[in-house]
Amino acid sequence: MRNRRAALAALAGAASLALTLTACGQNSEGGSEEDKKGAKGATIGIAMPTKSSERWIADGNNVVKDLESKGYKTKLVYGEDDPDQQVSQVENLITQGVKALIIAAIDNKSMNNVLQQAEEAGIPVISYDRLILGTENVDYYASFDNEKVGELQGTYIVEKLGLKDGGEKGPFNIELFAGSNDDNNTRYFFQGAMNVLKPYIDKKQLVVRSKQTELNQVTTLRWDGGTAQKRMDDILTSAYRSDRVDAVLSPYDGISIGILSSLKSDGYGAKNKPLPVVTGQDAEVASVKSIVADEQSMTVYKDTRELAKVASNMVDALLNDKKPEVNDEKTYDNGAKVVPAYLLEPVAVDKENYRETVVDSGYIKESDLK
Ligand code: BGC
Repeated sequence: MRNRRAALAALAGAASLALTLTACGQNSEGGSEEDKKGAKGATIGIAMPTKSSERWIADGNNVVKDLESKGYKTKLVYGEDDPDQQVSQVENLITQGVKALIIAAIDNKSMNNVLQQAEEAGIPVISYDRLILGTENVDYYASFDNEKVGELQGTYIVEKLGLKDGGEKGPFNIELFAGSNDDNNTRYFFQGAMNVLKPYIDKKQLVVRSKQTELNQVTTLRWDGGTAQKRMDDILTSAYRSDRVDAVLSPYDGISIGILSSLKSDGYGAKNKPLPVVTGQDAEVASVKSIVADEQSMTVYKDTRELAKVASNMVDALLNDKKPEVNDEKTYDNGAKVVPAYLLEPVAVDKENYRETVVDSGYIKESDLK
């Protein structure tokens, strides 16, 4: 088997040759125009993490739609947040003869062996949204500017508390939540938020009464809302008997909903005890509704339709001996290599702008928010 990585390295050169040759009815492998069209009928394997969150359902459907519109067949699987299940699903896709893989990993370090099998079968791999770590056998990364997501959340908090205007405002109480520790995005989101929040924590204008400020103290396994709710319950009982929490950094809408349930059971949301500023991510319907109802404060909208397009275009380019478009070749070092990436822009959404962002773009129907 020809080494895939060497083959990919030669792609740029091969692409121009392919163009010349296909013009005469031949592709770069010497096949006919008809064989070349064969790439179009190829089956692409798509492995998504879970159906328990609306965004991943949309991601899966959008990738399928985009690839099918380009003439590919698809096999879409969901790992239901179980890393072992996802690994065996990917193994099956390889056995079934897929020609490329698009993977949003559950556990970013669980894929090394199975991706070695992909390498040996000459199957290119796109890491989707979440970077797969510790293996050279990842060709491209399609995602959002993940640090920016955290910065948008942190900035929203400092602006809403009026800290941005300078002066001696505060102190305000804040609690910090992060995502799953096996998802590489988690540290980027947290880092981005802390870039903004830490200076205020250092000046004691923001106080974390639980004293849980390190990433390893604030992660939420598998992004589970119930786990976050339980942690918030514990924090309210142990650190907030007589004080009020003014802001909660939440990395994801499902976690925000759990945190809000905990706060509401503790009496927050009543007239004399307003809910704190609570951030989020993904613009899930339940959270946009919560924003409209003045509960959750904001979310970060990441247009997964665009992400699906980026990933599908990468596959299409690779299977047609072209170099996929990237816009970042330095940020995402997975421990084995810097993975060339295409990063999209996240957008902060609150009650002020939800219509012109998520509704007008058709991401969410206004009627779903009723
Ligand atoms: C994604 C987020 C999502 C989270 C939980 C992360 O990897 O980037 O958009 O909120 O997983 O599903």
